[in-house]
Amino acid sequence: MLVGVLALQGDVREHIVSLEKCGADAITVRTPQELKEVEALVIPGGESTTIASLAHTFDLFEPISLRIKSGMPTYGSCAGMILLADQILDAKAGQKSFGGINMIVRRNAFGRQIDSFETDLIAPALSANPIRAVFIRAPWVEETGKDVEILARYQRGEADSYPVAVRQGRLLATAFHPEITGDLSVHRYFIDEVCK
Ligand code: GLN
Repeated sequence: MLVGVLALQGDVREHIVSLEKCGADAITVRTPQELKEVEALVIPGGESTTIASLAHTFDLFEPISLRIKSGMPTYGSCAGMILLADQILDAKAGQKSFGGINMIVRRNAFGRQIDSFETDLIAPALSANPIRAVFIRAPWVEETGKDVEILARYQRGEADSYPVAVRQGRLLATAFHPEITGDLSVHRYFIDEVCK
C-alpha cells in the first residue's frame, strides 16, 4: 500500500513515520504526478488556508478533489479535517475545501484561551485504550449529515460534546493530531479499515 502525505505545509514527517510504523509505504506528495502514484492520501495538520492556496499554486487542488470524489482513501488531521469538510464555519474569506465529508466544521473552534491542549479520548472504534489526543487551534464538527459515522467525541461540559473523529466511507478525519504523540491507533485504523 503506497500512501502519500500532502507535503505543502504542516507536520508531514510525523505522518510518514506513523504510516511506516503501521506497515505502509509512505511518500510525500507535492506534484500531480506524485498524486497519481499513491493509492491513499493523508492531509496533515498545519494551516488549512495556506495548504489550500499552495494546492492551487502546485496544480493539486482540482486533482485532489477529484481523487477524493472517486473514492481514494483519505485521512485529514486538524487542518486536514477542515479541508475534507463540505462546509466550513469561521472560514477565512474565500476559503475553499476539497470537501467529501458531509459535515460542517468550525475552524479554531476551541477558542483562544485553550488554543492547544491534550486529553484522553475514549474511542472504541479506533482503540481499546484511551487515545492521547493533542488539539492545536483545532476545529470541531458542528453538524454531521447522512452516512457520517462519529468515532470520537470531546466532552466539553455536562451537556456539551462535539465530534472530533469522523468517517464517511473511505474518508477519515480527526480534529486532533495523533501523529505527534506516537499513538498509532488512528493511522492503524486508516490503513487496516479505511484503505482495505
Ligand atoms: N487552525 C488551523 C486551520 O484553520 C488548524 C490548526 C492545525 O492544523 N493544528 O487550518
